[in-house]
Amino acid sequence: MKKTEINLISDTITRPTKEMLSCMMEAEVGDDVFNSDPTVIQLQKKISTMFGTESALFFPSGTMANQTAIKLHTQPSDQLICDKYSHVYNYESGGASFHSGVSCKLIDGNRGMFKADQLKGMIHDPDKYYLPTTRLVVVENTTNKGGGACWDYEELVRIKNICEENNLSYHLDGARIFNALVAKNEDPKSYGNLFDTISICLSKGLGAPIGSLLLSSEENIQRAIRIRKLFGGGMRQVGYLAAAGIYALDHHVERLKEDHERAAVLGKALESSNWVDKVEPIETNIVIFQLKEGCDENIFIQLLEKHQIKMISMGEGKLRVVTHLDFNDQMLDRVLNVLKRIER
Ligand SMILES: *Cc1c(COP(=O)(O)O)cnc(C)c1O
Repeated sequence: MKKTEINLISDTITRPTKEMLSCMMEAEVGDDVFNSDPTVIQLQKKISTMFGTESALFFPSGTMANQTAIKLHTQPSDQLICDKYSHVYNYESGGASFHSGVSCKLIDGNRGMFKADQLKGMIHDPDKYYLPTTRLVVVENTTNKGGGACWDYEELVRIKNICEENNLSYHLDGARIFNALVAKNEDPKSYGNLFDTISICLSKGLGAPIGSLLLSSEENIQRAIRIRKLFGGGMRQVGYLAAAGIYALDHHVERLKEDHERAAVLGKALESSNWVDKVEPIETNIVIFQLKEGCDENIFIQLLEKHQIKMISMGEGKLRVVTHLDFNDQMLDRVLNVLKRIER
């Protein structure tokens, strides 16, 4: 019998559960471009209540939510500051320069996170007219390229204070903020208070097929509706998809703990494999590891693929596995067995 594939490429590969699908099928819908889809309105209210923000807006993707936030906070020729690993800089097709005409100044942080002190030296003096105007700081929690690392909340507060002193907007790319909240037992409201805008993905660990949210003040969200339309993201009877998001927020948040536990077990097994040189610290559902010198990444990936296990290369000799809703304990056991069997 052919074994089912184990896909550890990303937490975006999950398919809606039966229960989620039936919620979607039963959703009450309307035309969201006319702000008359009751399920979308319900989802937006639900998330803004959780985070204690005035308002929220539903987006087809996290990229569009982030790019809308950048557009909200900047004018062409401005500069934003982010970590060199950040998604907005690396994985959004250069959107910051295309949509908003802004450049990114990169901080050389640690696992996608930087210190308030590093930020201080990066902010341009507004009187120096020949320098791009610093307007926005973007942080990512958890960090994606940084291996699911969680920020220290106090550091985020120190950065907030610097933003205030320098009149900079503060955006959180919270694609996986729920992984951080669960891992560190934090209150979403403490994040809602801190940032001018927050983007959140429903289609990662939360297991919805599509959807992201942007959270902010009522005034910013009113402007964001126009920008979303400008970007082609005005949607019609999209309550069917918002229903998946509501279901995910009700049923798939606490279970992120299981993903984190399985990632930790995987990390231990990888650490003891004689293919692997080093596993980065594991805080949530992402495991990044490096193979030993002389071990060919492609051969390792192909070996696992023969056993129906998929993972992805992150470049620079790093590999990544991500645990998720469609990866259970039986599959974990299979991966552990295969790792033993392919010892060199
Ligand atoms: C996935 C992700 C996004 C958004 O990605 P989409 O595929 O456009 O939904 C943004 N930031 C981070 C850190 C991500 O991991």
